[in-house]
Amino acid sequence: MTQTMLAAERHTEEKSAYAIAIRQLESAAHYLNLDRSMVEVLKHPRRELTVNFPVKMDDGSIRVFTGFRVHHNPARGPAKGGIRYHPETTLDETRALAMWMTWKCAVVNIPYSGAKGGVVCDPKRLSIHELENLTRRYITEISIMIGPESDIPAPDIGTNPQVMAWIMDTYSMHKGYTVPAVVTGKPVAIGGSEGRLEATGRGITVVAHEALQLVGSQLEGARVAIQGFGNVGSATAKLMHKAGAKVVAISDVRGGIYNPNGLDIPSLLHCAGRDGCIQAYRDAELVTNEQLLELPCDVLVPAALHGVITNENAERIQARVIVEGANGPVTPDADAILDERGVLVVPDILANAGGVIVSYFEWVQDLQAFFWEEDEVNNKLERAMRKSFQHVVQTAEQNRVDLRMGAYIIGVQRVAEATTIRGIYP
Ligand code: GLU
Repeated sequence: MTQTMLAAERHTEEKSAYAIAIRQLESAAHYLNLDRSMVEVLKHPRRELTVNFPVKMDDGSIRVFTGFRVHHNPARGPAKGGIRYHPETTLDETRALAMWMTWKCAVVNIPYSGAKGGVVCDPKRLSIHELENLTRRYITEISIMIGPESDIPAPDIGTNPQVMAWIMDTYSMHKGYTVPAVVTGKPVAIGGSEGRLEATGRGITVVAHEALQLVGSQLEGARVAIQGFGNVGSATAKLMHKAGAKVVAISDVRGGIYNPNGLDIPSLLHCAGRDGCIQAYRDAELVTNEQLLELPCDVLVPAALHGVITNENAERIQARVIVEGANGPVTPDADAILDERGVLVVPDILANAGGVIVSYFEWVQDLQAFFWEEDEVNNKLERAMRKSFQHVVQTAEQNRVDLRMGAYIIGVQRVAEATTIRGIYP
């Protein structure tokens, strides 16, 4: 193969989240000595749907939007995964995210398989009515795939509890009765779970604590930089601050702020979600999203988009520990560089699993119509995260691999085992 061809291939891979997901699966398959036919089965999404649908806009015009829903491997249970509203979302990205959901659910041992959905749109440029129309029509279009026994959506980038409420209502209207268990991440008033909103951030805080202990440090007093101030970034900032860590930097799509002495997180949380909230903060230096990643800190939490830590900037990362709040923020090339430099990376399929763990609790509560106190939810979540973290560390040590491969070995092995035990139909 020529250099140009290699470079072209690398370029395609960098652009394709799905190519990265396959590369990660191939590495795990190598350690597990998996049969080639099993790898073929696990590589492919089981089913994927693209929908193009019209939405009535406020000015009376009609706009056609494109959406996706992908199921990866169904071996371990109903499909589960969020719905992303983002102008740059693609079917390729949705495939990768669905596969990552499969491994994530298997790593933390909850009885789901992976799914993901998305609509190509910028929710910030839609009115509340347009957002509701778009959601109800998208859900109707993908209704052949979703249901409390088959596929349970949840929030992801650009969606929130209100969107989940419209999903529950739309599905229920079609059925003729209320079906709370069709979607998770709903408001508590309609069958949502206590603790779901902060669950991903809580899980991240638990694993950050464990990871720092592993490198002989502690969360109390640790300097934390967080990229992203959406649901995950803001809950992480809140809970890290509460745990005694010093949040020194935070950002949103427009950029970030940095103060080595720590930011006033309670005051920032007051305006979280509002445009310009971060930029209006006085007592800090303005930084770009790229600069934020390279700031001096103990823990770096990339909690925005995928592919932000690459072979271009991995050498300059100063954190001792990276906790992946987003899905796929560190590329495989960057992983290798970070590992060599001794930076501990807690991989997404473990680090941000708190969200789907509490989604599972929400689904169980909805199916039983019996709801738990917030303490019970949080305690069960923290226990699940700690147990999964220890399991990943042990597996990584036994196989002499990094934590990402440790997590992949557990996840892929569990899914391969379930696939083998069930057998190939017919
Ligand atoms: N979108 C979240 C994730 O990537 C949550 C999925 C869920 O709760 O089903 O893990």
